[in-house]
Amino acid sequence: MTDAWWADGVSFQCQPDCGRCCDQPGGIVYLAPTDAEKLAEHAGMEVEAWLRRDCTKTLDGRYILRSRQGDGICIYLNEKKQCNVYQVRPQQCKAFPWWAENLRSKRSWNQVKESCPGLTADDAIIISGEDIRLHVQADRQSTRGFRKWEKV
Ligand code: SF4
Repeated sequence: MTDAWWADGVSFQCQPDCGRCCDQPGGIVYLAPTDAEKLAEHAGMEVEAWLRRDCTKTLDGRYILRSRQGDGICIYLNEKKQCNVYQVRPQQCKAFPWWAENLRSKRSWNQVKESCPGLTADDAIIISGEDIRLHVQADRQSTRGFRKWEKV
């Protein structure tokens, strides 16, 4: 991965009150076990009860965050386009836009650039290749997901 096109860093600054990456019908957020623990604790619930309330499963059985029934948007995105659980948001959300699928090719990256104003913002700063690599790892771990709750 050292010869990846992004290894020398990429400019980015998430823009306040943007929320475009979350405001996508049908988006899927995979969860790492540590995400479930943090979000359940934040909700003041046992993990199993939180998984039943706020999650659903993919066809192959991995836990994902639930979406709203009416519009398919994440249940945690509020009307101001802000995340209601921002401080404890899943690591896959934190890793955006540094998802492996986005970085795979210049073509997929250009599509992300068109939708994420943080990548072309005037106040963008260089995110190092090492930091990007850690985000990619986190995204991959989340995408593997988990199918059964076991305390970590
Ligand atoms: S689309 Fe980009 S700038 Fe907007 S909230 Fe998501 S990461 Fe931040």
